[in-house]
Amino acid sequence: MFNAIQIHNDEAGYRSELTQLDPVQLPEGDVQVAVAYSGLNYKDALAITGKGKIARRFPMVPGIDLAGTVTASSHAEFAVGDQVLLNGWGVGESHWGGLAQQARLKGDWLIPLPETFTARQAMAIGTAGYTAMLCVMALEKHGIRPDSGPVLVTGAGGGVGSVAIALLAELGYEVHAATGRPQEADYLLGLGAKEIVTRESLSQPGAPLAKARWAGAVDSVGSHTLANVCAALHYNGVVAACGLAQGMDFPASVAPFILRGITLVGIDSVMRPKDERLAAWARLAEDLSLAKLDAMTQEIALAEAIQAASQLLAGQIRGRLVVDVN
Ligand code: NDP
Repeated sequence: MFNAIQIHNDEAGYRSELTQLDPVQLPEGDVQVAVAYSGLNYKDALAITGKGKIARRFPMVPGIDLAGTVTASSHAEFAVGDQVLLNGWGVGESHWGGLAQQARLKGDWLIPLPETFTARQAMAIGTAGYTAMLCVMALEKHGIRPDSGPVLVTGAGGGVGSVAIALLAELGYEVHAATGRPQEADYLLGLGAKEIVTRESLSQPGAPLAKARWAGAVDSVGSHTLANVCAALHYNGVVAACGLAQGMDFPASVAPFILRGITLVGIDSVMRPKDERLAAWARLAEDLSLAKLDAMTQEIALAEAIQAASQLLAGQIRGRLVVDVN
């Protein structure tokens, strides 16, 4: 038997609990993994609390990412003992996920754990950090360089935001951090931010065009914030949009697109092709300071994940939560 978080949705209602499962209950897959660490991501918190329609089948084991060791495999690329890593592909949504001591998965979803990282560090980065890297790479692909001008990170104190700040600062960008938690200013400056922007200055309905302040932006917030970020980009500015912490709406105007030639790049991490995943993890291995990763990481036990999910959605968690499932 092994420990897992399980979500039920039946006559008794929607609920998550810590439970024990039998390996014979694991879903189909060609690789079995002894999970070492998982992460607690925004999407996991929505699934665990039921505040978002994330789980597609019940009972579901949440956990959209995991790192661990292969214990059985009929997949050509993976053998018993290999260290592996998984993000997305609907795991923790429609296929049992990483908030458990064991998982059975499609080998095609796995990538080798980069040598630079332990399983714990890889999950401290987790889906949030890997998505932050995808955002930074999107800015680069669209021509944003450290000498282009300041780059804004919204949702700065969260998982995506914290990793994005650390990466951009390491790469030499002047990073501005938008946060609703002024008490975390020292933390954000420690990650490499040069300027703190108040969340309120961006989260209310704004003008179609504003003073041009940023060459680029990483936005994990959406809604009015994303609209205001678009309105305040430099000529040819670029924003990589990956999240909806404020809302899924996008009440914007075309003005910055047609008058300043800005680019809005959508970032999805879940269905990303394998070569792009490998490239993002290779860049994380190069560009992320492990000391800063450590500073933004809190470890919790599997049994604490349910309570932590509510705290995360209430905006009370700083940086990343890594879950020791054992
Ligand atoms: P976190 O909860 O760790 O961070 C979100 C941050 O957003 C909070 O810390 C807070 O930062 C800010 N925030 C929260 N509520 C509001 C609000 N009402 N208005 C404005 N800002 C707010 O989540 P993650 O960083 O893990 O994820 C962030 C977003 O990115 C989520 O929406 C998530 O679903 C999405 N995401 C998308 C992925 C993809 O593939 N596209 C992959 C990973 C994440 P502060 O307190 O500093 O203001």
